[in-house]
Amino acid sequence: MERINALSIDLEEWYHSELVEGRRSSFSQAEDATRPVLDLLDRYQTKASFFVVGEVAEQNPDLIRSIFNKGHEIGCHTFSHKLVWNMDESLFREELERFHSVMEKILGKVKIKGFRAPCFSIDNRNRWALRVLSDFGYKYDASIFPLKINPLYGISGAPTRPYRISFEDVRKEDPRSPLMEFPLCPLMIGSLKIPISGGFYLRALPRSFLYWGLRRINRSQPFLVYFHPWEGYEKTPRFKLPLYQRVVSYYGISSAMKKFEFLLKHFRFARVDQVLDLNREKT
Ligand SMILES: [Zn+2]
Repeated sequence: MERINALSIDLEEWYHSELVEGRRSSFSQAEDATRPVLDLLDRYQTKASFFVVGEVAEQNPDLIRSIFNKGHEIGCHTFSHKLVWNMDESLFREELERFHSVMEKILGKVKIKGFRAPCFSIDNRNRWALRVLSDFGYKYDASIFPLKINPLYGISGAPTRPYRISFEDVRKEDPRSPLMEFPLCPLMIGSLKIPISGGFYLRALPRSFLYWGLRRINRSQPFLVYFHPWEGYEKTPRFKLPLYQRVVSYYGISSAMKKFEFLLKHFRFARVDQVLDLNREKT
């Protein structure tokens, strides 16, 4: 039987990326960058989870309604894309409250179940964030990147498949925890772990390797893909960044939509809440 994987889109503006920090624009391109993604999902009759930045929703209410009405899941990517590491508990609660009030204005009372921290910024230093998410009624988090490869994020030793996440240690499973975690599953070859299923990694890896690697993950479990609309949008502004930031930010943008389509063509996907089977209870 073919496995069903989880598909997530982080709906933010190009300037929310950490690597272009400090640059901003009042001009929103989120709608133009996201429409082709929605068209592609329609074409492949696939539903995804959109982790939305609240201020993007505020500027693009019609886009949010259209995503929701198509049957995609709306999740939270904070209100202003601040890293959770840079917030204390009261600021984090404030961010969530602002996000929820914007969403309520746009969609009415809709249950938001899923959260993704900007730049995967939840680890043991700020694990209090998990309890806050649970207080707000969240059912799952998708912010754990279980290997340390990037200077900013990553937790080595965290589980690489969905688990009930302990509020005491994010690397531990706790069957009594109210919150599920869907980590970004890497490809594992022996003791080697290779990130493969999103962002720069997805843009940079050749299709044949992606196909082989993702099929290999699917032998034992589903994987979680993450994609940003600005990653597949030709008009994403390109700046003269230092080499590392430049490569990670811009490599493969022109072919990213084709690669995204390649995934939709060769693998089955659903919303994260569906893959985690969180919809049995009435909401
Ligand atoms: Zn983000």
